[in-house]
Amino acid sequence: MLTDCHTHTEASPDCDAPLSEMCRAAREKGIRCYAVTDHVELCRWYPQAHYGAGAEDSGDGFDYAARFARSMQQIQAEKAQQTDDFTLISGVELGEPDADPALAEQIYRDERLDFVLASLHELPGEKDFYFLDYTQDNAEQLLETYFAELLHIARQGHFDVLAHLTYPLRFIAGRDNISVDMGKFRDCIAEIYRTLIARGKGIELNTAGYRRSYGKPSPEEELLRLYKDMGGKILTLGSDAHRPEDVGGALEKGAALAKSCGFTEVCYFLRHAPHFVTL
Ligand SMILES: [Zn+2]
Ligand SMILES: [Zn+2]
Repeated sequence: MLTDCHTHTEASPDCDAPLSEMCRAAREKGIRCYAVTDHVELCRWYPQAHYGAGAEDSGDGFDYAARFARSMQQIQAEKAQQTDDFTLISGVELGEPDADPALAEQIYRDERLDFVLASLHELPGEKDFYFLDYTQDNAEQLLETYFAELLHIARQGHFDVLAHLTYPLRFIAGRDNISVDMGKFRDCIAEIYRTLIARGKGIELNTAGYRRSYGKPSPEEELLRLYKDMGGKILTLGSDAHRPEDVGGALEKGAALAKSCGFTEVCYFLRHAPHFVTL
């Protein structure tokens, strides 16, 4: 049984595909448990005017409250057409939950939600890592701040699974070819893992990087192995598809990597509870 626990629809600003088309692609690819996790960037929950004159739109938009309402509405409508052999999981990719922990908790408790993926796409006061220019020096500095912030998010805990643990590497290593000694961040990452494991939270193996020039998943093998060695059990697989043709993308490669690191199961979430599936 294939699971894809990280996908988007047109309710996300960087995706044009209707939910029905994404679900059709999932069914065609034999995916049985399919989570829709549209973007909610908590640092832009309100309309732009709320943030004052200085708030600039870097392309990710504002008013995620309205996007979230739309995403929930379309998932409920699609669920009404659900058949027994396909489980549609109502999720969200909650970006920057540290921007408003009380609101993050409120969203986590929303009864329509099965699954909250937490992510960190930008640091406070910065643009999305996608938009930054990197040098050897600033890359390491940004990563240090990134992992410290991620630890902060892990301690707040208003989510089920931490998405793409090494997100900035997509651009630093994958796009700009800057190689970074990840050993420098190992202690902080281990602390993130310890926090997640103690709180019953998990990580995802995000396979989007396999489809890009980066060629690696997030986290990459060494860090996935560290999670396993520390006792991590909750692992979801996610394609991070923004187009029907990417649904389920490289999940089998991800599953094979998880197996080689010693995982025997992956999971999906219903009502914030992990359900395990044998690999
Ligand atoms: Zn993301
Ligand atoms: Zn995503």
